[in-house]
Amino acid sequence: MTTPYLGNPKYTIEVLQKYGFVFQKRFGQNFLIDTHVLDRIISASEITKDDFVLEIGPGIGTMTQYLAEAAREVTAVEIDDALIPILKDTLKEWDNVTVLHGDILKTDICKIAEEKNQGRPIKVVANLPYYITTPIIMGLFESHVPVSSITVMVQKEVADRMQTGPGSKEYGALSLAVQYYAEPKIVANVPPNCFMPRPKVGSAVICLTRHQNPPVTTLDEKLMFRLIRASFNQRRKTLSNSLKNSQELPYSREEVEAAITECGLPLNIRGEALTLEQFARLSDCFVKLNK
Ligand code: SAM
Repeated sequence: MTTPYLGNPKYTIEVLQKYGFVFQKRFGQNFLIDTHVLDRIISASEITKDDFVLEIGPGIGTMTQYLAEAAREVTAVEIDDALIPILKDTLKEWDNVTVLHGDILKTDICKIAEEKNQGRPIKVVANLPYYITTPIIMGLFESHVPVSSITVMVQKEVADRMQTGPGSKEYGALSLAVQYYAEPKIVANVPPNCFMPRPKVGSAVICLTRHQNPPVTTLDEKLMFRLIRASFNQRRKTLSNSLKNSQELPYSREEVEAAITECGLPLNIRGEALTLEQFARLSDCFVKLNK
């Protein structure tokens, strides 16, 4: 068995110097240099030797080494040209790793799951580039990629938003979308000194375990998400005003008020007070009133 070595900052610095690597801010490059955090990510993701793992943004391959030890097979997708030769070097001792050079947002992940895991659910593990956290996570859920769990390092504030419920100021469209698809659990808070270079914000590792079935059912899932987005677009407005002002929705004031009343909600309620279940019921009221 090969021992992961890149978690030790000394080796990270050696590799960076050997290749004269220059960090690219535009790619959200903050490399992990803390073995405790790496061990925590691996244990939280519950990877076994049966698992196929997709890693997003391997950097110089630090976490990839740990993943390769724990999993049956790993595919890592990296956008930065300069990192490809480095990854070839740092991962040469692991024969169960494939590095793909490309943009994760343009990668056909369903195809990877099909080819590498016969279409069975895969695990996604990443220290994400923070500038595209939401499109990556929503893309994984909405494009029906077979995924059993997503264990990711994200900005602390974003992790809080994913996990929170009504009544907190972090509650929003992302909370509801994530909780519709998965059970979120923050498993570690990670300070800036665990990265090189240090990010300006705090970070957290969050594990999203995909639901077998969504926790609520609705007649029109797309409409429910349009209502959710419209409700949080104008956070300080009442639900009724946000919905009738939305460009995404065709309803008149009368229709909006009828649906809210039909749901048993007061007309002065704000969107931020509604649970996922209440959004599902509201969406059904709109469907029924417009039949
Ligand atoms: N996994 C490494 C680690 O933990 O040390 C690096 C994590 S760093 C926060 C994010 C990585 O994602 C960088 O290597 C960056 O180049 C890569 N990246 C940024 N945008 C990407 C994209 N659109 N597709 C694939 N990789 C991307």
